[in-house]
Amino acid sequence: MAETENTVETTAAVLILLGPPGAGKGTQARMLEERFGLVQLSTGDLLRAAVAQGTPAGLAAKAVMEAGGLVSDEIVLAILKDRMAEPDVAKGVILDGFPRTAGQAEALDTLLADAGQKVTAAVSLEVDDEAMIARVAGRYTCASCGEGYHDAFKQPAVAGVCDKCGGTEFKRRADDTAETARARLQAYHAQTAPLIAHYRALGVLEEIDAMGSIDEIAAGLGSIVERVA
Ligand SMILES: [Zn+2]
Repeated sequence: MAETENTVETTAAVLILLGPPGAGKGTQARMLEERFGLVQLSTGDLLRAAVAQGTPAGLAAKAVMEAGGLVSDEIVLAILKDRMAEPDVAKGVILDGFPRTAGQAEALDTLLADAGQKVTAAVSLEVDDEAMIARVAGRYTCASCGEGYHDAFKQPAVAGVCDKCGGTEFKRRADDTAETARARLQAYHAQTAPLIAHYRALGVLEEIDAMGSIDEIAAGLGSIVERVA
């Protein structure tokens, strides 16, 4: 047995991060990239890069998009497969925006199995919906400098005067309401439930409390990656 021979590398982590808008998924993914040398692959970036490089799958995606169609799972998977064969992702990837459905998750499992790999962990950032809604619903910003404030958690030291710039005009985004926040969370849960079930059945689902500080969440994610990768 040629034990020193560097033939099949199967230790690369394949991480799937699931989390609702506002849970800090993007921030956490960047921190995992820095700490573990993982590479975040988002579907949008993958498509753009493959189109720009003119790979066969990229050209197929381009033709579909130019015709105003939706790029098929088959094409996305072909692009993902090409990308995961590149040397810069040898330590592993964080998938962002894919899979979105149980069907895509199964197709991904097959693609990985063909390469001697598997999803090492699907991490669900668990939030308290009502607390998330309260966070979003009270947000407002200084109209002059953009400093962020919150009705419940961060009022200016002097009422009506921005701490940073002394401005007295503030603005609220029309969609930062409890209703839109609740609708976004419901849509997230509906879309994610089949994926959670899929990865739970495979025994790779990890749930972590995402209501803590950025550093606390990062520590929880880090220990998962250290354990599974
Ligand atoms: Zn200001």
